[in-house]
Amino acid sequence: MKNLKLAARETKKGTVVDVSGVKVGRDFVVIAGPCSVESEKQILETAHAVKAAGADMLRGGAFKPRTSPYSFQGLGIKGLKILEKAKKETGLPIVTEVVDPRDVSWVAEFADILQIGTRNMQNFSLLKEVGGAGRPVLLKRGMHSTLEEWLNCAEYILREGNPDVILCERGIRTFETYTRNTLDLSAVPAIKELSHLPIIIDPTHSTGRISLIASMSMAAVAAGADGMIVEVHHKPQEALCDADQALTPDMFDDMMNRLRPLQSFLNSQPAASTAK
Ligand code: PEP
Ligand code: MN
Repeated sequence: MKNLKLAARETKKGTVVDVSGVKVGRDFVVIAGPCSVESEKQILETAHAVKAAGADMLRGGAFKPRTSPYSFQGLGIKGLKILEKAKKETGLPIVTEVVDPRDVSWVAEFADILQIGTRNMQNFSLLKEVGGAGRPVLLKRGMHSTLEEWLNCAEYILREGNPDVILCERGIRTFETYTRNTLDLSAVPAIKELSHLPIIIDPTHSTGRISLIASMSMAAVAAGADGMIVEVHHKPQEALCDADQALTPDMFDDMMNRLRPLQSFLNSQPAASTAK
């Protein structure tokens, strides 16, 4: 793929991003938590529940890029402090979104991974800023973007001297309306052919349907993904953001109980058969 210098497969063996001991690119990593940080009770309850079910990291947005300016926009610094408390209690590293280049340096003090959302994939000033932030970056695929455009955005971050980029396939816009987006699972093995960067999937924003999340997660494991990021809320019906697509802690636990045996089985197979 032309123009790629640092992200191209040929330049490096598989990148492993070490997030406080969680190794993205080596193990199948599960990031779970609510869409947005709403209250201390919500985050602490959810964090303890996902940890008990086997999650490796906690997600939660303190800054929410919403389609409508009248929707809940996130708690900002107050939300980050709540995430900090959850990390202290559970030990789970924090994944949280940053939307404004001016916020990157101080959000990085709370985040173990800085998330760049689909709507900001090509926000080049934001990409350059996170490239210099000294924190791993979770780069979501733009909902209208090709693999080449996406990898070029990773290249912007790598070029600033940050080697710790994790790609996230979160679904693309197609003519289908039954699902919120279309999960492009072929992106997983395709990215493995094109790049050394780890790739995880987001079964939540891609499907927008609770009933499809477990199946798509199992399919992602089989396709060779390095992990997943999934929305879990202690009381989904009360969520201020993406209420229809959040798993309950019980559903998450159930899914994890189905995922882990599949992973163990695939890990016991010769490497070539899992596309890694
Ligand atoms: C999110 O992770 O809550 C989110 C807004 O995701 P995306 O940018 O993929 O829509
Ligand atoms: Mn969401």
